[in-house]
Amino acid sequence: MQLAYLRETRRGKPAAALRRSNGEYLDIASAIEKWVKASGGESSVSFNNPSPLDFALVALETVTALRLATSELEDSAFTDCLYPSASALIAPIPRPNRILAIGRNYGAHAMELGNAVPEEPIVFMKPGSCVIGPGDSIVIPDGVGRVDFEAELAVVIGKGGKDISEENALSHVTAYTIFNDVTARDKQRAAQEKKHPWFLAKSLDTFGPLGPFLVTVDEIADPHNLQITLKVNGETKQDGSTEGMNFRIPYLIAYLSRWFKLEPGDIIATGTPAGVGPIVPGDFLEIEITGLGKLTNDIIAGT
Ligand code: MG
Repeated sequence: MQLAYLRETRRGKPAAALRRSNGEYLDIASAIEKWVKASGGESSVSFNNPSPLDFALVALETVTALRLATSELEDSAFTDCLYPSASALIAPIPRPNRILAIGRNYGAHAMELGNAVPEEPIVFMKPGSCVIGPGDSIVIPDGVGRVDFEAELAVVIGKGGKDISEENALSHVTAYTIFNDVTARDKQRAAQEKKHPWFLAKSLDTFGPLGPFLVTVDEIADPHNLQITLKVNGETKQDGSTEGMNFRIPYLIAYLSRWFKLEPGDIIATGTPAGVGPIVPGDFLEIEITGLGKLTNDIIAGT
């Protein structure tokens, strides 16, 4: 299932929504409430405005039930829970606890920046505060120098754990989505030359576009056979397959959880294929990954 976060609903607040095959969004909590009432039950789902992640974590069964319910009841019964496909969305996880990012995980990308392919994963973190949603603007502050896009497959951890084996690793994943690991490249290079951490270069506000929605694992047959494309102003700049990952998702989960406990809602940004390049105010970015939709963001100048 595809779980989006509607920016505005008739209830006056954001709401988790199921994206239907025709692109429309169904406000899940409202629909469940309606379904329970229609079945003569007492609604117990006036829960505290659950997020798409809440549903991704617990609700494969719930949403399966909801799908059955919506096919039982006439669609017209849910009209007031439906929103058009063009509705504004916020990031499906607006403030992730951790974005665990993997550097130089595609050989061709490592080499295009003059780096060797690493012998073990390069792990760094981006703060949840850098996340923006589909349609939001990436803000480039004055004086920051070159800023690059990096289109990446994002893995959302569902079941946490320590010392997860490679064999079991994929059972700890609940969903996939698109991430743009926007990077202040000049700042990163300056830090690398001084052998300093490059946290700042990765952590500017708006430097973490995420979305447009979470796609649960049942819809992605093979996460290592997805095409990642990125366009700047309509021109293709990145076009690679997740097959090109140096360290694959099960290995990354085993590796990370060897050293610290993974938690539900952690995001692993799995690295970017070749073709990274700079963006400037006025540019328009489109990232597509097979089965995960399209993430678009414009670029504006900040102060
Ligand atoms: Mg990256």
